[in-house]
Amino acid sequence: MAENFRAIVAEKSDNGEITVGLKELTTNDLPKEKVKIKVDYSTLNYKDGLALTNSAPIVQKFPMVCGIDLAGTVVESLSNNFSVGDRVLVNGFGLSERHWGGYSELQRVNPDFLVKIPESFSSLQAMAIGTAGYTAMLAVNAIRDKNISPESGIVLVTGAAGGVGSVGIMLLSKLGYQVAASTGRASLADYLRELGATEILGRDEFARKAKPLEKENWAACIDSVGSTTLATVLAQTRYDGLVAACGLAGGTDLPATVIPFLLRNVTLQGIDSVMAPMGARERAWRDLATILDKEALEKAISVVPLDKTIEIAREILDGNIRGRTVIDVNA
Ligand code: NDP
Repeated sequence: MAENFRAIVAEKSDNGEITVGLKELTTNDLPKEKVKIKVDYSTLNYKDGLALTNSAPIVQKFPMVCGIDLAGTVVESLSNNFSVGDRVLVNGFGLSERHWGGYSELQRVNPDFLVKIPESFSSLQAMAIGTAGYTAMLAVNAIRDKNISPESGIVLVTGAAGGVGSVGIMLLSKLGYQVAASTGRASLADYLRELGATEILGRDEFARKAKPLEKENWAACIDSVGSTTLATVLAQTRYDGLVAACGLAGGTDLPATVIPFLLRNVTLQGIDSVMAPMGARERAWRDLATILDKEALEKAISVVPLDKTIEIAREILDGNIRGRTVIDVNA
């Protein structure tokens, strides 16, 4: 018998108008995917903010259940790799774009998208990490894979008080790196220090026109901002350093020169979480389980019920959200 459940759905009317709202669906509405999940939590990421406010064409198929992340328990499975009772998560893979996502009490998902939640994490903790935290781990792994060690110098994190930034600081400081944090919110300096940053810099120091080369300050950087900030960071990166470009909170352009690449051997490393191969995902989640300090994570979490998600969506686009927002889809 069909079961009713709640979900946040983006719909397009015949005249092309897009609306997003909390709706009651039935299990007959679910996609015909092999694994049915009772969702515990989802998250609010920057991309979710864009989808929920229809500020960018994130949703590519309508109707669409929004939410790029989910964590929950398998309740039905036609996959050999997942059984009833398994605790699983999804990050990206086109959820909320081409596939129904996590703002839903129930969902059906392609088993190729699923990662088992590490034993040491609850589903709330897995979503407190979410796409933002797992992206931060991908960036940290890019830095480590370039053999940039704590002895190599200071690592800069821009957009520091956001989701990617907050988890990036926690991970780097736990691994012994000295971390500088760039933020537009000086009032959050104590929060950033609690996460492990040792130096707090203003956003304006980076969001400006950069010279082709500036003083070599950073061994590496996790950048959530893009645009002039990324250009300034590249100009300040030390010889053989790496900049992990994760985000576009400050803009999608890159007004830089090639000089840091030619004269300082700087690497500009793209970070994509959405279509990252399963091996990189599983490695990132294993690493998160061993590295991340759960007490530090606790400091970065706010939990919001499903029916308040649309209300707070604008906040993440305006840069007003601190750390990570977990969505309790059953509240
Ligand atoms: P958040 O909104 O949580 O964090 C972004 C942070 O950037 C803000 O907290 C703020 O930090 C800073 N910021 C906001 N607006 C501006 C601005 N106009 N100029 C400069 N800095 C600004 O988002 P997430 O951490 O979830 O995501 C960060 C970025 O990474 C986003 O652009 C997102 O789209 C991208 N992303 C990319 C992924 C990938 O696969 N590559 C995956 C996940 C996210 P502060 O107040 O400290 O300055």
